[in-house]
Amino acid sequence: MDGRLDLRLASVLMRSCLRQGLLRRSYSSICINTCLRSAWPSHSSKLPFLRHARRTTELSAPSPIVIRRYSTAKAGAVSDLERRIAAIPIDRFRNFCIVAHIDHGKSTLSDRLLELTGTISAANSNRQILDTLEVERERGITVKAQTCTMIYNHNGLDYLLHLVDTPGHVDFRAEVTRSYASCGGALLLVDASQGIQAQTVANFYLAFAEGLVILPVINKIDMVAADVPRVLEQLETTFELDVSNAIGVSAKTGLNVEQILPAVVENIPRPTGDETKPLRMLLVDSWYDSFRGVICLVRLFDGTVRHGDSLVSLVTGNKYTVGEVGIRYPTQVPQSVLRAGQVGYIFFNPGMKNIQDAKIGDTFTTVGSEDIVEPYPGFVEPKPMVFVAAFPTDPSDYSRLADSIGQLVLNDRSVTLFKDHSEALGAGWRLGFLGSLHCSVFQDRLRQEHGASIIITEPAVQTKVQWRDGTESILQSPSDFPDVEDSRSRGATYFEPYVLATMTVPEEYIGRAIELCESNRGEQESIEFFHGMQVILKYRIPTAQLVDDLFGKLKGATKGYATLDYEDAGWRESKLVKLQLLVNKEPVDAIARVVHLSQADRLGRAWVTKFKEHVQRQMFEVVIQAAIGKKIIARETLKPFRKDVLAKLHASDITRRKKLLEKQKEGRKRLRSVGNVVIEQEAFQKFLSK
Ligand code: GDP
Ligand code: MG
Repeated sequence: MDGRLDLRLASVLMRSCLRQGLLRRSYSSICINTCLRSAWPSHSSKLPFLRHARRTTELSAPSPIVIRRYSTAKAGAVSDLERRIAAIPIDRFRNFCIVAHIDHGKSTLSDRLLELTGTISAANSNRQILDTLEVERERGITVKAQTCTMIYNHNGLDYLLHLVDTPGHVDFRAEVTRSYASCGGALLLVDASQGIQAQTVANFYLAFAEGLVILPVINKIDMVAADVPRVLEQLETTFELDVSNAIGVSAKTGLNVEQILPAVVENIPRPTGDETKPLRMLLVDSWYDSFRGVICLVRLFDGTVRHGDSLVSLVTGNKYTVGEVGIRYPTQVPQSVLRAGQVGYIFFNPGMKNIQDAKIGDTFTTVGSEDIVEPYPGFVEPKPMVFVAAFPTDPSDYSRLADSIGQLVLNDRSVTLFKDHSEALGAGWRLGFLGSLHCSVFQDRLRQEHGASIIITEPAVQTKVQWRDGTESILQSPSDFPDVEDSRSRGATYFEPYVLATMTVPEEYIGRAIELCESNRGEQESIEFFHGMQVILKYRIPTAQLVDDLFGKLKGATKGYATLDYEDAGWRESKLVKLQLLVNKEPVDAIARVVHLSQADRLGRAWVTKFKEHVQRQMFEVVIQAAIGKKIIARETLKPFRKDVLAKLHASDITRRKKLLEKQKEGRKRLRSVGNVVIEQEAFQKFLSK
């Protein structure tokens, strides 16, 4: 039996299990392996691949490239492209993506494929074409999924390929899942020197659950440390994949890259769809353009769409007139039509003003077909996990910053935004993010794209409270959390969110990794030694610990070799308290945090020491305390200046001396009463910035 067919069967089976809740979406799942094992015969022959890798050891230069830049090209050239696309039937469409751990070379490989198909020029030094945002280039990560259309001539026939670049980091998992939904297959790209890593595992099972055909590609075979046989064995044992047709490439030098597209054409199934049926168009992604309004990335399942068509959303019921349709090639190139099976962009005229109206996963159809077109099941909206409060460094900057944040939120629907206010820092916002990387990327974008300076509080997670009467509330801000003495807290039970973290760690660092997990209140779920001296560790860990840079600490403990991935593991009862910083007995709201009881002491002490460093000495005494309700757990005192008022005085002048000291005491009293006001904003800012 054909192994690939079996893989699809197994995945259909698994998806139906997932849907019925019989299977948790956990990649450790034995069920998946069993599914696969029964579907896949064992594959012994890795030889053809290895022979091939050896044969092509000299570095081949990238093939000669035709320069095509349609964004600036004349209308004639555009219609050439259109004619070529129009002549390609849907059975010669292929939609695919690249599944990989971060840094395994996905963006580099995408560039090579775009060059190979003449979509971009090889001479173009502008690398990583699909990573358009500045922050993506700078940090080398992909945040938003991009797509690019390519035309590839195979055995004399044109094929229309859509390559979807997916983010690798777990924070952006929703983007990944959405990208997979528009694909029929995936290249499973693994670094030949590093082998399978946490995100390879997670992303593989996501792709697998979507029913994608998986083609293994081993990258970076040019590296001295490359160990191709080891990686092949890992792929075979971990995923039970057929590696006999795996391709070994160097995305950097271009070696063997030309073998990938024939494999895509031959192995990845064509998209299903019928262009003669009424339009059934899935909204995959959207972004905001200040001139055109919301631009939507769409995947057509049935029918066609062109300029001037009247469309209706099956979710909102809103009606629109199509302003333009087109493909990304890799810039936006207008087309007269998009057909079933294609992935392209679309915007309306008049433009869609509000990005909230562009519901990801929404289905659009032509006005009149609402009742006969079945909507696509849609996607689960991602939930924010990390919350921070943000304030302008300079309060007069508020409205400018409000604009900037608004702009960014327009393009990142996964950020939640509320107004917030702090006594110490003034008016600001409370923002929710998918994870800490997402949060820091947002800050970077704010700085880069808008040059705004901003104070951001430490990332925190939500808490759940079950009140005495049985009702439940989800609290986002520490200010909503009741004090110990508060009557509301009597009989209340608290819960905090947990994740199931999967880590891969080289065997030699296993002890340190376990130590770190235990000290972060983790509970071991499983430990599994797998080929090549790697260990897969699974821990249940409070999300609060995860967002407190657990990954950074893990990397630090393993010389950067560990990888981490996680999934939501629900709420768990927990001993939570609200820790507050008091300055001269007044709580500083911006610094309050909900923490586990076991951490309150250490954190409280750290707070008072750190805060003391940033407060300038005053004419009066400043008392800095950390407290849980009325209970003080740490204290520091900042001594006042003592101006030597007696300096110029003759030693024997006792009455004068008394009078001067009295006067000084009076002055101090007056100052102390307004003590909190005198503490400069800068102190809070310095305290909050890491
Ligand atoms: P992504 O995170 O998966 O998109 O990875 P990138 O494409 O950004 O690549 C990560 C790093 O690996 C970059 O520094 C690339 O230059 C490098 N890289 C990618 N492919 C190869 C390869 O085939 N050989 C070598 N030696 N380096 C590569
Ligand atoms: Mg990338």
